[in-house]
Amino acid sequence: MNKKDLNKKKGMSRRQMLKMLGATAATYGLLGASSKVFSKSAPHIVIVGGGIGGAAAAKYLRLLNADVKITLIEPNSQYIFCPGSNEVIPGWITLEDLMVTYTALKTRYHVNVIHDKASIIDYDKKQLRLEKGTVLNYHKLIVSPGPMHGYHAIEGFSKALADGDFPSAYNAGKQTMTLRNQILSMKQGGTVIIAPPENDYRCPPAPYERASFIAAMLKEKNPTAKILILDAKDSFVLSDNYNFYWKKTFGYGTDNSMIEWVPKKKGGKVVKLDATHHAVITADGQSHKGDVINIIPPEAAGLFALKNDLADTQWCPVDFLDFSSMRHDDVYVIGDSVDGAPMPKTGYIASNQARIVVQAINDELHGKELSTPFIINDCVAMAGHDYGMALSTTFRYAGKGKRLKDLYYIPEAETNPAKQIVRQQVAENWQRTFRKDIFE
Ligand SMILES: Cc1cc2nc3c(=O)[nH]c(=O)nc-3n(C[C@H](O)[C@H](O)[C@H](O)COP(=O)(O)OP(=O)(O)OC[C@H]3O[C@@H](n4cnc5c(N)ncnc54)[C@H](O)[C@@H]3O)c2cc1C
Repeated sequence: MNKKDLNKKKGMSRRQMLKMLGATAATYGLLGASSKVFSKSAPHIVIVGGGIGGAAAAKYLRLLNADVKITLIEPNSQYIFCPGSNEVIPGWITLEDLMVTYTALKTRYHVNVIHDKASIIDYDKKQLRLEKGTVLNYHKLIVSPGPMHGYHAIEGFSKALADGDFPSAYNAGKQTMTLRNQILSMKQGGTVIIAPPENDYRCPPAPYERASFIAAMLKEKNPTAKILILDAKDSFVLSDNYNFYWKKTFGYGTDNSMIEWVPKKKGGKVVKLDATHHAVITADGQSHKGDVINIIPPEAAGLFALKNDLADTQWCPVDFLDFSSMRHDDVYVIGDSVDGAPMPKTGYIASNQARIVVQAINDELHGKELSTPFIINDCVAMAGHDYGMALSTTFRYAGKGKRLKDLYYIPEAETNPAKQIVRQQVAENWQRTFRKDIFE
């Protein structure tokens, strides 16, 4: 805009300005209540799952295309973000801080949100049946139901026990609060057992972030307590950073360390829960008693995806060009359910996958050739209020049926305290911005 235009704009009355903004917003269909009527022939894009992947797909599809009809199926009227939920355990934030609703998707983005569970896909008729009986016709179906938590892979464990005395807290919600309350009321000198699963599972650094936050909480309230991490793997992402912080803050590696980490090769893999004796049994037959037991079970694609033949065995195979299912036409799978290694299962990735799918669908609707995607994961994590870290990865398309090529940047442990705090602030701010980006 040149100086003359700028002056003209400055001279505009408030009414004129609002009129101009209103016209623009109306053109893109973005303001006002969800009163938009779509033509009968408008393509109907149905999305299963109103978590990070599904909600991002709904919003970004609308930003690309004002004319398609978008329906989002989600059983809950609120979504609680998992990113940030480890901070609820020491009480640094509350679950309410992580809660969002579907109001903006409904009213600003004209998404028809149906609070029900998707049940069965009829691939021949291109119809989706919901649990309460509604049947929807779709042109394209995007599936983002998150993962299924395999409680039964650990003998003696179950969803009922996780909802009761043995919270996994790997979906933010009631179990997160149970875990917090159990740690708060644990006897002095008690033991918290955390049992992370083998790869792949959502948010690979989260169990170690959790251990760090619990240690900070115990250091203040229960300084003789211990955290025993019994791991189903021999290494974990960002371990240089966590080890550095644990040494500095909790005496890690000494006899008085608050945190002990046992890898799989040293007997870390938990295979059984003995609920009666409040103990876990590892693959080498050892029993470990815990006052608080936090088993994070292995995961698989969401039940909806498994039931509807979208998974090969554990995860859903897709063509990474557009995340279309390798098993059924006009269906796309994104988020934690995807067989996406080496991509990690993160919200950041799920939202980027959403952008790729909706771009591809929109291009197809406009008869354009699909472009080759380039996926980025800029994952942030924390070890404490005073230590943050980030992990940068890019993923390049390598052809149909091939895994993506990856280029990782894992920073070494940051020793400069000022930079540690800056990174922590970046991580915290990212969470806030991310929630707004998807749900507002
Ligand atoms: C403790 C923790 C910390 C994390 N921290 C981070 C982080 O810092 N950064 C990051 O990027 N990621 C983080 N993640 C990972 C992130 O939460 C997931 O990768 C992300 O939520 C995946 O998105 P999704 O859409 O696949 O699944 P979800 O976000 O879980 O959404 C799935 C939705 O589908 C719905 N659904 C399920 N079945 C049906 C059905 N049949 N019909 C309709 N709806 C259905 C569910 O109700 C849910 O709302 C963290 C995860 C955890 C557990």
